[in-house]
Amino acid sequence: MRITNIQAIPLRIPDQNSDIADGIQDDIIVRVETDEGITGVGEADSMPLAVKGIVDAWSSWPHSRGLRDILVGQDPLNVEMCWEKMRVGTSWLGRNGVAQQAMAAVDLALWDIKGKALGKPVHELLGYKYRDKVRVYASTLFTEDPGEMTEVGQRYVAQGFTAAKFGWGPMGRSLAGDIKLVELARRAVGDDTALLIDAGCVFKARDAIQRVHAWSQFNPFWFEEALEGDDLDGFRQLARAAGDIRIATGEQESALFAFEKLITHGEVDVIQPDIARAGGFTECKRIANMAAQHKKLCVFHAWKSGILVAATLHMAAIVPDLPFAEYTVSESPLRKELVRSTVELKDGMATIPQGPGLGVELNMDIVRKYRVDA
Ligand SMILES: [Mg+2]
Repeated sequence: MRITNIQAIPLRIPDQNSDIADGIQDDIIVRVETDEGITGVGEADSMPLAVKGIVDAWSSWPHSRGLRDILVGQDPLNVEMCWEKMRVGTSWLGRNGVAQQAMAAVDLALWDIKGKALGKPVHELLGYKYRDKVRVYASTLFTEDPGEMTEVGQRYVAQGFTAAKFGWGPMGRSLAGDIKLVELARRAVGDDTALLIDAGCVFKARDAIQRVHAWSQFNPFWFEEALEGDDLDGFRQLARAAGDIRIATGEQESALFAFEKLITHGEVDVIQPDIARAGGFTECKRIANMAAQHKKLCVFHAWKSGILVAATLHMAAIVPDLPFAEYTVSESPLRKELVRSTVELKDGMATIPQGPGLGVELNMDIVRKYRVDA
């Protein structure tokens, strides 16, 4: 089998609000086509037109090449070889940035092709399956309105979720305000629900340490993205001061070496690679193995369409030590309608897709409806 073409298709809802941290208001999907009629699908959580540029670019020289140009003519079933060719061909464009994010989209599509060709779900190709369904946490944003937060938290619990994350929004304006936010979140979900707090990188280490001390009475399971990603000294200070609250971060990073630094230098407890940013299944499997070697948790970040939801569940199936996986509850039509999938959500658990490949089918009506011609 040979790759014949790679299409990168940007999508965007017409009323996108770039002031809120909902990353599935737009998207970049890739379709990898083959000479045997099998097509794989993937997506990147990135800036859509930047990823499209990396896919479509002509080759300038051996370390600055477009992904389509690198892969057309290659065997898609030899995924790791394709990944290595992409890495070498883009290695001067940023190993921990948009090139790696574009590679992630293509990598998902290649594993989708391999699964379809062999008639197996991706998780069976990646490793040993530890579970058929995964505990997931409802992932949402803090809001300005306390009543709305209470209603949202109570709704998740009523829907069966046993873990919930609130993030971003008004976090970071004042210590008193931040205490109130976490208190509200805890009250909304009750004492039996794991509560996760995501600051969206608004703090310096000293302020973040103040928060973990103030929040310990509300027993959050983790404190996510307290600091900017490159503040490794700050993360180390925070992790050492955080007591029972786990320090989580990593959704900004795309490369194995960056996650290794967060663990070894930053001493964080939980790393959060996003499979649609951090090089796809190929790199994320290495990242998960590295985290396990260091006795740290690897809980994948996921806030994109049903493509990433499925991909994250495939990875969640093969990671031995996993408290839960992220499950975005965004209302964007790109989250809810872009693909048809067999994933079922019941009692706070999501089923692992069992069809060949990723187990998703693009809804081409939605692709046509939100496609941006660029
Ligand atoms: Mg986050």
